[in-house]
Amino acid sequence: MRCYIGVGSNLGDRQGNIEAAIQGLREAGGIEVTKVSSIYETEPVGGPQQPKYLNGVIAINTELEPRQLLLALQKIENQFGRERSVKNGPRTIDLDILMYGEEEIDEPDLKIPHPRMHEREFVLKPLRDIVQG
Ligand code: AMP
Repeated sequence: MRCYIGVGSNLGDRQGNIEAAIQGLREAGGIEVTKVSSIYETEPVGGPQQPKYLNGVIAINTELEPRQLLLALQKIENQFGRERSVKNGPRTIDLDILMYGEEEIDEPDLKIPHPRMHEREFVLKPLRDIVQG
């Protein structure tokens, strides 16, 4: 299945964190990274006052089901010691499933397409890059 993953970081070595997360995706079983967008610096949306983010979008082909893919992303996030205590707070790495083919999923812990994707220029801009490019 063709999927788009959103990646963001606003703590530590942001560029390095994003590159490491992409490497993590490349090494994860059942995931093939096909394209990586440009990485943009963006203002944080919501949450407490916090540093700016770097954001990008990654196109993948995957054999994993949506829930398996979510687990794989969470595993990569956890490898970076992501701090989850503050909602919408700063994070070393954030990986979101933006789209999973044409599928629509609306469950408490998994919503695809990602519900806040359309209002977030920091997602739409890199997404346009790789869909058009
Ligand atoms: P956040 O800390 O804001 O990244 O939210 C993480 C939580 O969002 C996870 O526990 C997921 O269960 C949930 N979630 C819901 N939809 C998605 C999605 N499309 N991609 C990633 N996480 C999702």
